[in-house]
Amino acid sequence: MRIILYNMGIENRINEVRTLLEQANFEYYIDAMPTMADSEYDSLMGELLELEEKNPEFLDSNSPSQRVGGAPVPGFETVTHLVPMQSIDNTYTLSDLQLWHEKIGGSIECTCDPKIDGVAISLRYENGILMSGVTRGDGERGDDVTAQVKTIRSIPLKLRGDAPKVLEVRGEIFMPNSSFEEINATREKEGEQLFANARNATAGTLKSLDPKKVAKRKLAFLAHGKGEVQWDGAPDTWAAFTESIRHFGIPVSSQLLICKTADEILHAVEGFSSRREAMGFAIDGMVIRVNAFAKQSELGATSKSPRWCIAFKYPAERAQTKLLEVNWQVGKNGTLTPRATMEPIHLAGTTVQHATLHNIDEMHRKDIRVGDIVTVEKAGEIIPQVVGVKECERDGSQVPVVPPSSCPVCDGPVEKEGPKLYCVNPECPAQFREKVKWFSARAQMNIDGLGDKVVDQLVDVGLVKHFADLYRLTAEDLLPLEGFAQKSADALVSAIGESKLRGFARVLSGVGIRLVGRATSKVIARKYNNFKLLQRATVEDFLALNDFGLITAETLHKAIHSEQGVELFSRLADEGVLLESTEVLSGDPVFDGKVIVITGTLEHWERKQLTEELEQRGAKVTGSVSKKTDIVIAGEKAGSKLKKAQELGVEVWDEEQLLASLSG
Ligand SMILES: [Zn+2]
Repeated sequence: MRIILYNMGIENRINEVRTLLEQANFEYYIDAMPTMADSEYDSLMGELLELEEKNPEFLDSNSPSQRVGGAPVPGFETVTHLVPMQSIDNTYTLSDLQLWHEKIGGSIECTCDPKIDGVAISLRYENGILMSGVTRGDGERGDDVTAQVKTIRSIPLKLRGDAPKVLEVRGEIFMPNSSFEEINATREKEGEQLFANARNATAGTLKSLDPKKVAKRKLAFLAHGKGEVQWDGAPDTWAAFTESIRHFGIPVSSQLLICKTADEILHAVEGFSSRREAMGFAIDGMVIRVNAFAKQSELGATSKSPRWCIAFKYPAERAQTKLLEVNWQVGKNGTLTPRATMEPIHLAGTTVQHATLHNIDEMHRKDIRVGDIVTVEKAGEIIPQVVGVKECERDGSQVPVVPPSSCPVCDGPVEKEGPKLYCVNPECPAQFREKVKWFSARAQMNIDGLGDKVVDQLVDVGLVKHFADLYRLTAEDLLPLEGFAQKSADALVSAIGESKLRGFARVLSGVGIRLVGRATSKVIARKYNNFKLLQRATVEDFLALNDFGLITAETLHKAIHSEQGVELFSRLADEGVLLESTEVLSGDPVFDGKVIVITGTLEHWERKQLTEELEQRGAKVTGSVSKKTDIVIAGEKAGSKLKKAQELGVEVWDEEQLLASLSG
């Protein structure tokens, strides 16, 4: 309902629009009964922005206009949590959960609440006004992300009603599945690396220094705890607390259950398991906590976590289906990766038809055969994997997987190196296609608009048979391709042209010489300013470089002296691609040039994905710990490598620290 009174004062109108927008948010996020159409919200927001711009005397840091995001911030300030943000202990079995309940005294009233897989945050309200938003960090200190937090529409900038003097609400910022999928689809189109899961995407978004970018990502928030509270007549149970803050306009879980016995808790945990998918955002467990605050204080906390609270983690979802076929996909360096095609099944909210099988040795170890009933698992990652086989279901028709003796794309010879198979034909079109995608990606030549689908078309129609061909493309060449109009064709041609000046290091890593990734390329470009100097270097010279082994040194030497290598670089040079170091090369200051070893099981990453992420940031990821290792990232069940790191005094990070550093 919108009434404009033309004789109304500007200040009144500003206040009215602000109230309307706040009311719309409340209805949307708290009552879940939206009454205002998005278009009207946007148009009111536009009006407010305009009014505030023309009348800066009425600016207010709590105006809903703050949600579109202010100016970029120079960095994040570290803030100390007055009440530490402790982590919660995890349990994975119902019997452990029962034990916990007995340990705290049994027959104690608890609440059960879904555990969201997002990024923990502390919001501080003083007299009802949002003063700050701080990430959990190490629990003692976190980053001030107030400017970013203000763009999240479900977080009230001003509380409704009679707000407490001080109210610190802890909760989870998360990305709904729909936005997550949208973002990854866009990233895929643009040739950017995909986020492994919604949590990583949230963490990455929140750490953007530009609040306008955060505003676009549709993050959401749900409260799940409290910090400092100065509140006369504050509720004395968690259930009552959540109900009160809901009235202030703070989103809380609609799924909270009060359980009086261990049986009721187990029932709640099991019962919610099947409803998880329908929530529309990632839920990895259930939080069970003592309801009465007095009882909570009585139970207290260990140095690590509160005793009155525990998280039950749901196991990764698994399902059984029939393995129909194993295909071999050819990667940028000729790696042949087996991919399973299965009868489609519903798993963790999506229909799954393909899964990774890792490599041939792994397949033989698990004795996976075509025609088998296999178990597929999908955890936080995007790519499901085949974890095992039901041998009891075999009827004799199953066929062992035979590694291909020739490349499925070019029919070229295949060689085995360790557990991996490679197509060793340097002319293999499948490899070339992947190489061009790599070449164009943001971390290399950063060619806007040259995504996977465009590369596929260019290679398929034969317009690009060589990297240098990219630089001869004209708008007329592109126009017949799918998805191109004059404007986009012109834009791509100019983006390709711009990439000529990215510099030697990016070209070196872009052309995809095996073992020569981004970090190694930087080391090379620092030492050798241009291609001519590089060509004069010997294998021994390379061995003297930081972290060069014999194989890398020989591979590089061979690649730049081979007939194809010489042709590759000279043709690029002919097209005007700069083969000289342009600048002081800089990467992520935390990771650039670091030698990192990953060990143990990581909850939030696939090993390969993390390796790529770290390499993109300039790190070198190696397999074994030595004195040269800078950082060891240790997940669950880290064994000998962790021990060795400790013996050598190498810095060891857990996943929490890794996440903080990656998003920092
Ligand atoms: Zn091939």
